[in-house]
Amino acid sequence: MSVKLVNITKVFTDHDNKLKEFTAVNNVNMEINEGEMVTLLGPSGCGKTTTLRIISGFENQTSGDVYIDDELVNTLPANKRNTSMVFQSYAIFPHLSVRQNIGFGLELKGFGKQRIADEVDKMMETMGLGPLGNRRPSQLSGGQQQRVALARAIVNKPRVLLFDEPLSNLDAKLREQMRIEIRRIQKQFNITSIYVTHDQIEAMTVSDRIVVMDKGVIQQMDTPFEIYSRPKNRFVADFIGRANFISAKALSVGETARISLNGRSYDFPSFNPDMKAGASCEIVIRPEGLVLGRTGDDAMLHGTITQAVYLGSTMEYEVAVEGMENPIQAISYNPVKEGFLQVGEQAAISFDVVSAH
Ligand code: ADP
Ligand code: MG
Repeated sequence: MSVKLVNITKVFTDHDNKLKEFTAVNNVNMEINEGEMVTLLGPSGCGKTTTLRIISGFENQTSGDVYIDDELVNTLPANKRNTSMVFQSYAIFPHLSVRQNIGFGLELKGFGKQRIADEVDKMMETMGLGPLGNRRPSQLSGGQQQRVALARAIVNKPRVLLFDEPLSNLDAKLREQMRIEIRRIQKQFNITSIYVTHDQIEAMTVSDRIVVMDKGVIQQMDTPFEIYSRPKNRFVADFIGRANFISAKALSVGETARISLNGRSYDFPSFNPDMKAGASCEIVIRPEGLVLGRTGDDAMLHGTITQAVYLGSTMEYEVAVEGMENPIQAISYNPVKEGFLQVGEQAAISFDVVSAH
């Protein structure tokens, strides 16, 4: 195990009112494997940065243990933990050239001139910074600056690379590009990495596994596929992508879950194992998993189209269904405009149980 957190809790005390306490990280447990890239994902204030700072040693946990490479590091100061952090504000030195920035840590370690030059050359090559060695940060684009920051972090061969929302300052297009690049570089160097973001697409793009957090508590830790298709609870389902929740009843739970919906029953292969027979439940189905039609006596639900937005490659629908508080969200692909359901029309809604949970 490369990084292990055991029962990590962080309680902040208010400066002015010492009685006022706030639990920012609440009994967090996780194990991150060597070479793995794990993302902490959750809304602002859920404790992502605090968790990262506890791993790096910039913050002390109130209780619990941090292990790096099976070494208990609770009392090891930040500069002895051999982690590197990449921030959104780059934190590269404005008065140093690209080369000097990348070589900075190696100089601190007392490496010889030739060795530093060689390692910096290699790193600049890998990062696509080849011709920019003598530039100052102010002469670089945002994406190039972020690449310098990443190169400077990696060249030190940290045991763990930590990213705190590194792409937040970049425009949308560059952000998409850099996500893929960060992932490529992380894999190439096989560096154990922990990546913090509030952006679910970013998390899906870069991660081997995602940790979804809310209010300091881990909600689910799983692969992107599991998180998206088998969310453990409503928070996870809602936070990752768009989700429809359809009330139903569990008839029996075994190899599959037999679920009653609108007077018919269906066998769902994917379900939470703690669901109880006889209890009410919710079916989670993504908009792209629904099929809309004009007729269909055997459809699962019926409703009225209340919104139809044509987006070129898709048509995005909202459908009001009697007895449901929120409209159903559905997507049709490759819409041929004239042929599609319009606002006010009746819609028959179905889905394959395989794509629901
Ligand atoms: P995130 O990175 O997920 O947005 P943070 O880990 O930065 O969240 O913060 C989690 C919570 O802890 C927030 O409510 C924040 O206000 C609080 N917090 C963070 N640092 C401190 C501090 N030094 N003193 C008091 N409260 C803090
Ligand atoms: Mg943060």
